[in-house]
Amino acid sequence: MPGLAPRGILVRLMSPARILDGKATAQVVRASVKRSAEQLIARGVRPGLAVVLVGEDPASHVYVRNKDRAAQEAGFEVRTLRLDASTGQAELLARVGELNRDESVHGILVQLPLPRGLDADAVVRAIDPAKDVDGLTPANVAALVAGSEGLVPCTPAGCLELLDRYEVALEGARAVVVGRSMLVGKPVALLLLARNATVTIAHSRTRDLAGVCRTADVLVVAVGRPQLVRGDWIRPGAAVLDVGINRADDGKLAGDVAFEEARERAGWITPVPGGVGPMTIAMLLANTAKAAARARGIELVDDGRVVRSDA
Ligand code: NDP
Repeated sequence: MPGLAPRGILVRLMSPARILDGKATAQVVRASVKRSAEQLIARGVRPGLAVVLVGEDPASHVYVRNKDRAAQEAGFEVRTLRLDASTGQAELLARVGELNRDESVHGILVQLPLPRGLDADAVVRAIDPAKDVDGLTPANVAALVAGSEGLVPCTPAGCLELLDRYEVALEGARAVVVGRSMLVGKPVALLLLARNATVTIAHSRTRDLAGVCRTADVLVVAVGRPQLVRGDWIRPGAAVLDVGINRADDGKLAGDVAFEEARERAGWITPVPGGVGPMTIAMLLANTAKAAARARGIELVDDGRVVRSDA
């Protein structure tokens, strides 16, 4: 009927958002990585991941344990270097250097933040870019900016993988990324740009943040403030990726988006927990398999990426 949106669109706008299920998607990615590891092992290369953990930060210990377990499940060789908080910069750099030279190590991850007194930037810069599975070295950042092959930071790569899995259209879409960190905001924005989205990066000085968010077909929020993004900031039908992880007083995890409000307007939305979080570890594994394959000049059938099926 003239003047009315087609019926399908009306139904999409009025029904609650489809969940972008990071937990389930991460399982698919991890199964794919496991197949890649099997291919590599059959060629005599067992993917090796080295995780460097300095100090006693309890959250870091949990993250490292989870990464260690996931990498073992994928069939990798995992080495976790637990170093005392009193470890000096020179010693830490020397350990990274040893891992760079070790041919059985294909991926190196230094768990951040480092204890006070250590220069995290210098430590990250010391990692061989070919083994930089967190994608944080200047060479990999440059590759991302140039749109050339490198290792992409895991959380941003996980965001794109989720969008792709659910076939969210990016070409020509208006994308807004809230947050401009080197770890999440900037790389997500570059990945979306590489996929021909029209990207706006918002931050703490952005004027009329709500208005900017309302323009987004794809909204990625990586700030670290619970409930920052309200339901009426969401453009109807938008895809909303909530990267934030905030722990409430009762110990529960929450994202940066007011989920219940937002899901009434969004077309797709990630929950917290169970959204972007599980994708981060999955992409770390994918990067390690990719680094191992490249180190030996082996072409993987799916290069550690998601197999495009509904398996
Ligand atoms: P940072 O603290 O490095 O960056 C936060 C960004 O948010 C900054 O760019 C800052 O702007 C912006 N910001 C702060 N306040 C506001 C505001 N009121 N309005 C708009 N923008 C604001 O954080 P990270 O990027 O490292 O992490 C962001 C969140 O994502 C955190 O909750 C973190 O725990 C989570 N995270 C989750 C991961 C996962 O696996 N799911 C992985 C990594 C992070 P400005 O630059 O102007 O200061």
